[in-house]
Amino acid sequence: MAANVDKQTTHCPLQKFTGGKCGFSATFSREKEYVKLSECTKNISNHLKSCKLPSGHQSKWEADVSSEGHLISYRCGLFSFQPDLKVCPVHRYNLGLLWKPARSCANPDHKGSKKVTKVVITKLSRYLFIREGIFIPVGAGLCSSCFIILNGKYNEEQIELENVSPDCIDKEDVESLDQEASYSLRPRTQKVNIRTIAVRNDIYAIKKD
Ligand SMILES: [Zn+2]
Ligand SMILES: [Zn+2]
Repeated sequence: MAANVDKQTTHCPLQKFTGGKCGFSATFSREKEYVKLSECTKNISNHLKSCKLPSGHQSKWEADVSSEGHLISYRCGLFSFQPDLKVCPVHRYNLGLLWKPARSCANPDHKGSKKVTKVVITKLSRYLFIREGIFIPVGAGLCSSCFIILNGKYNEEQIELENVSPDCIDKEDVESLDQEASYSLRPRTQKVNIRTIAVRNDIYAIKKD
């Protein structure tokens, strides 16, 4: 049974990660309970689509995030999903269905006036947080210059891993990042050797400007 918010004396665990106050959501005002992340199962495909993420709906790419609970978790930097964490309605919806990307580039080191043309998918968000210590939530936008720098770090690492141990690399991961991370209009060409795709991705991004 989910606990009633009125009786809850402590903040929900996500509050520690994202700040803000726990409580009710004005939009989903009937929901008065803390629920486990595993119980957050609303349909997120329209939300993913509105963030320009692969939604899994009428799309040949699988949804970028598998459930509402996972989305909430990733948006506060918890990339190892903990199904039993209970979330209050405010954090549930502010990190999930009601979250909106800023119009400006989400890279903290962004300089200049370039507009957002790229979207951060889960794999890139996770990589930047865990390996680079930069937190950019899934669905946030990047300008093309920042994307080249940040996605380039990810791809460099993929290539290095491949050089070390070609059998260990998850080819699907490399391929889907190439397809999804460069969500914006990139020229489509015939499939080439997957080993070169990560490199090509950067080249296309540069050409586009
Ligand atoms: Zn909360
Ligand atoms: Zn930028």
